[in-house]
Amino acid sequence: MNKLSKKMLALSLTGVMTFGGLTTVSLPASAVGNGPNYNGNESIQTSILTTYEELVDFLHVQEAKQSALELEVIGETVKGRDIYMAKYITNEDNPTILFLTQQHGNEQLTTEGALEFIKHLGTGKTRSVLENVNILVIPMLNADGAMGDVNFSTDNYIADGDRHLTRANANNYDLNREHDKATAAMQPEARVLHENVLEVYDIDYLIDLHHQGTQSERDGKYVSGSILYPTNPNVDPAIVEQSKKLGAVVFHEIESKGWGHLGKYNGGSGANIGRNGIALRYDIATLLFEMRGMSDHTNPSAVLGQKSNGYLIKQTVNTLDSTVKAIADGSIHTVDTSFWDTLPFQTTRPAEEGDE
Ligand SMILES: [Zn+2]
Repeated sequence: MNKLSKKMLALSLTGVMTFGGLTTVSLPASAVGNGPNYNGNESIQTSILTTYEELVDFLHVQEAKQSALELEVIGETVKGRDIYMAKYITNEDNPTILFLTQQHGNEQLTTEGALEFIKHLGTGKTRSVLENVNILVIPMLNADGAMGDVNFSTDNYIADGDRHLTRANANNYDLNREHDKATAAMQPEARVLHENVLEVYDIDYLIDLHHQGTQSERDGKYVSGSILYPTNPNVDPAIVEQSKKLGAVVFHEIESKGWGHLGKYNGGSGANIGRNGIALRYDIATLLFEMRGMSDHTNPSAVLGQKSNGYLIKQTVNTLDSTVKAIADGSIHTVDTSFWDTLPFQTTRPAEEGDE
């Protein structure tokens, strides 16, 4: 990467992190949809991404600043990294939402957005929602993959920078295929998510945040992301309906932005996938949100150039902000879900691959 583009990328990421409310920033329409994907000339620089150590430091700083925030270590990764959960529990009788990022370690911008969201919760602007909703955030479940500290070769990963980021955990397991197992048989990161969070807290909603490849489109235009509710046939229909409402809040929020353009994710019905398995096991309403483009991958078409980073982080923040507000004020119960009947599955330009 040349010096100029590196500087611009750093500026672009820094700019987003200092926006605060973000909503007043005017952004050119369709920037995400038109954003470049990796084309062989553009470097993908992983060193601008928050490291695990920086994430831990950030969370502790926020905990010291925010009286409503409590950190919990829910367990350890394969390599012994503490897995953190940020908790805002004001009243146990309130509805509770869990935001989960980086089951796949190479999908990091959702984590950057989740950290920004946590920072927002410490400001007067959004603090009032905490009286009516409990919020749990697990950023970077797969911290070993995010740091490229894994027991397999990362030689074929294409990003530049001081580390690679891998989809799988250190044992080369896909953590989003663990959710139908007995917990004792799960990989450590999935096991502690189930045993110490899903089985312990009374959670009503989950948004499972991911990144897909770069080549998905709807109506001939690249999408900024795609969404899907649980599709396993054994999930309680009432939970599916609640999940569709969660998706509706997100859809209306993102589609109202000039740069947001969502498709329906064409995902499987297997109970091993979090979106399905967690809905099935715990009667939690779930939404999969796949943002455009990954931070690193062996396949160039999966990796997104960094010009879209700011929008994708903002898309995450808007998603989290809008859903906590809709749950807090009860508007999630009356949101119009009819778009689900007409929203097309995203389609794929050649050389694309899925994610979930
Ligand atoms: Zn993923």
